[in-house]
Amino acid sequence: MWLKLSTFCGYFYGHIAGYNYIGYNEEDEAYYFYAPMGSKLRKRFRNMFAFTVGRCIFMEKRKYLDDPEITNHEVEHINQYKRLGLWFPILYTVYHITHGYDDNPFEVEARKAAE
Ligand SMILES: [Zn+2]
Repeated sequence: MWLKLSTFCGYFYGHIAGYNYIGYNEEDEAYYFYAPMGSKLRKRFRNMFAFTVGRCIFMEKRKYLDDPEITNHEVEHINQYKRLGLWFPILYTVYHITHGYDDNPFEVEARKAAE
């Protein structure tokens, strides 16, 4: 239920933020988007390649679709949404503040899943 709601929010966000929709990947159960010319977000967080809202994966470049290290990482975030529901974005934010991006346990787990 929560996953569906956040997927809807992600889908909506993708459109208003100017992301281009690529398509649904059945294996990943994910909707892929990319930023046509580098988004504002990219300028703020330089080392960010992609992020996930519900089942929507937003990539800063379309070619990242061919990089399993990036897609597997983001698919793990979908699994975290599945496991924790509404708690995932809340806990993620808390860990981001207390641990920082690199040491956020959700990021550590996603990096491991992508190896
Ligand atoms: Zn991540």
